Amino acid sequence: MIGGIELGGTKCIVAVANNPLDILEKKIIPTRGPTSTILDIVSFFSNYQISKLGVGSFGPLVLNSDSAEYGCLVAESKGGWKGINLVKELSKIDAHIIIDTDVNAAALGEYKYGVGKSAETFVYVTVGTGIGVGVLIEGKPHVGDFHLEIGHMFIPDKDNFEGVCRIHGNCWEGLASGPAMQSRWGMEARALSLEHEAWEKEAQLLAFGIINIISNHSPDKIVLGGGVMNQKHLFEKVRLNVKKIWNGYTPLGPLSDLILEPALGSDSGIVGSLSLAL
Ligand code: ADP
Ligand code: ZN
Repeated sequence: MIGGIELGGTKCIVAVANNPLDILEKKIIPTRGPTSTILDIVSFFSNYQISKLGVGSFGPLVLNSDSAEYGCLVAESKGGWKGINLVKELSKIDAHIIIDTDVNAAALGEYKYGVGKSAETFVYVTVGTGIGVGVLIEGKPHVGDFHLEIGHMFIPDKDNFEGVCRIHGNCWEGLASGPAMQSRWGMEARALSLEHEAWEKEAQLLAFGIINIISNHSPDKIVLGGGVMNQKHLFEKVRLNVKKIWNGYTPLGPLSDLILEPALGSDSGIVGSLSLAL
């Protein structure tokens, strides 16, 4: 049996499985402070015997498994979590731990079992509590020296909205994540009506970031996941904005083949985290 953890800013999904597509038990735990959240995670796994545990976590975190700091969260991206070493905290679970960013894990899930199959350059974007991006080149995460933090790039925004990123204010995540929508429009994103101007604005902000990803990586597929992308109407709005902003500069093909919904729905992250354990 293998275990998986998808640790997000709002919720944590834990699961045990025979293999990533054969999940035996799954639980959602609200992400709070580290002490109580980790206690709940460890308590879930105490009921099972697992050999390996794949963890996809929000970052930024040390991914170099040779480092003594392997698994350490290095910034206050979520209040109270800076300095927490996830590998050490989870060592109470008797299993070999493999850790990656939540978005690299979700990208892996979609690459192995979803819409990313055989994509040479494959991108997974989550638009949730934050914005995160995983880039796989022939199935391997593009990590660089630390790891990518594409959600924290800067994009234009004429409205002078100060943004909600705890570190940068109005970076991409600060302007277009779920909490950014809530702050800008004064209510939770899911409560906004379909006709609300927020959606066209959101599609444009997402398209700016996606254009930058296209410019940098020329991916063959980009999957958009995360809580905000439960708003299915956003996909077509985003594609139209990407088309308009890119302005035919290079051929992108039909955008409905480039910008895709996750085949695994909200399970990309946990399936990918379980895949890390293989
Ligand atoms: P996490 O970031 O913990 O992985 P999610 O991907 O579910 O969790 O992202 C949570 C964010 O997505 C919250 O800001 C929430 O308001 C927003 N969200 C969740 N569901 C919806 C929805 N149906 N429509 C719009 N926004 C949503
Ligand atoms: Zn930022």
